[in-house]
Amino acid sequence: MHVKKGDKVLVRSGDDKGKKGKVLKVFPEKNKAKVEGVNFVKRHTRPNRTNPQGGIVEKEAPVAAAKLSVICPGCGESKGFRNERDSEGRPRRICKSCGESL
Ligand SMILES: [Zn+2]
Repeated sequence: MHVKKGDKVLVRSGDDKGKKGKVLKVFPEKNKAKVEGVNFVKRHTRPNRTNPQGGIVEKEAPVAAAKLSVICPGCGESKGFRNERDSEGRPRRICKSCGESL
């Protein structure tokens, strides 16, 4: 997965193209990620404690990770990252635009 929880991402295709948001959760086995404010779906729900009226609730649904580009917190660009390992062998991502590591 090239996106991780907490990353700021840009949606590159689909209905939400151009939207930006924070990754709330990743689903590596499905190659999907749930992004704040992106891909809202309406769900009909029965009344419950958190929603005593029941009815329609809008919630984010996971989107294909392939549609997402990580936005660099250093330069604000989403030109991509290259994967490297630091001196202790831990993976890190380096911004292709400014060299910032994530
Ligand atoms: Zn950058």
